[in-house]
Amino acid sequence: MIGLDPQIPTCSRAGCPEPATWTIRWRNPRIHTGDRRKTWLACDAHVGYLRDFLAARDFPLEVAAGVVPDGASAEDRA
Ligand SMILES: [Zn+2]
Repeated sequence: MIGLDPQIPTCSRAGCPEPATWTIRWRNPRIHTGDRRKTWLACDAHVGYLRDFLAARDFPLEVAAGVVPDGASAEDRA
């Protein structure tokens, strides 16, 4: 039986209980100043949906495989 494990972050898509497997970092240039970023987590099924949602608004975004903790970026680990 699969339960909700508080240790496993879930998808940011409303109502989706799936464990997150992707991190999407983005910013809205109109409300976010400087290098401020928002982080969304996504499951396999919704990473495309969330990315397209942001891309349609021309928000700068980056998608990283796996769950990247807030405050770190994929580039920091290079
Ligand atoms: Zn999802």
